[in-house]
Amino acid sequence: MAANDFDERLRASAFAYLDRLKAIHGEFLSHVDLKAFTFEDRHVSLLQHMRGIRVVSGLDAALSITTSFKSPYEDEIGPDGYFRYKWQGKDEDAYDNRSLLRAMRDQRPLIYFEGVASGVYTATYPVWIMHSEADQHRVVVALTEDLQWQRSTPDLLQHPVDLAARQRYAERIVRQRLHQPRFSRQVLQAYGYRCTVCRLRRRELLEAAHIKDDAQGGRPVVTNGMAMCAIHHRAFDTNVLGVRPDYVVEIRADVMKDQDGPTLRYALQGLDRARIVLPRRPEAHPDRNLLEERYHGFKAAG
Ligand SMILES: [Zn+2]
Repeated sequence: MAANDFDERLRASAFAYLDRLKAIHGEFLSHVDLKAFTFEDRHVSLLQHMRGIRVVSGLDAALSITTSFKSPYEDEIGPDGYFRYKWQGKDEDAYDNRSLLRAMRDQRPLIYFEGVASGVYTATYPVWIMHSEADQHRVVVALTEDLQWQRSTPDLLQHPVDLAARQRYAERIVRQRLHQPRFSRQVLQAYGYRCTVCRLRRRELLEAAHIKDDAQGGRPVVTNGMAMCAIHHRAFDTNVLGVRPDYVVEIRADVMKDQDGPTLRYALQGLDRARIVLPRRPEAHPDRNLLEERYHGFKAAG
């Protein structure tokens, strides 16, 4: 039982360490920090180099799984909406694959690192391995505890209606937990980490705005996004600020007439009719059709 206790303590400590890193750095974590984790005076890298299954000596079950930013689509979403992770090679008895199957058998929570750029990862945790799809050399991963519980319901296939609902739910979780950070990263990178409206470069204040909301079917692609500081993102989302399809900013008429302190004067009114700053790569420019659709909504709000 001592081994299990060690396993639990190490995982809990690793999750707490990741919580602290996220509180300081946001969702994008550097491999330097992820390798610097220590547990009870022992240095324990949280991830395996580039892509792989992290096995820690003293633990039977894998601690983390990582995908490389160079092959982000190698690990995919299955028809049931659940995330799939490829084994290392095809040998079920290989050391690292065995540790993955052990994590499944013992229902140990793992960390999933997704490489989003060289040396930069997002961390999703805890995640669980639910099934092995041996013929395809991969495992099925639950990204939340409730998904794990739903999947393990034995009479799953006897309830096709529930299955469809589960699938939609699983897809939503995948979108929130995996695609959203990837979208943010790609958008901020395309805009050179500056607000497209005011050029602010403070990374900690920047966000990726959707032009067409994902709830309305907007896709998580760069051309459906714009990098904005927190205030301009909020102003865009609430139709205080609009972006015309010809890439010119408009501030809503009633807001232009308002009187207030410097934020209103400089950060909003002062930017009326300004041109947005576009990404250097033309293929990353915001989609004019999506902007037009969105701009109609802005005009209707004014
Ligand atoms: Zn701004």
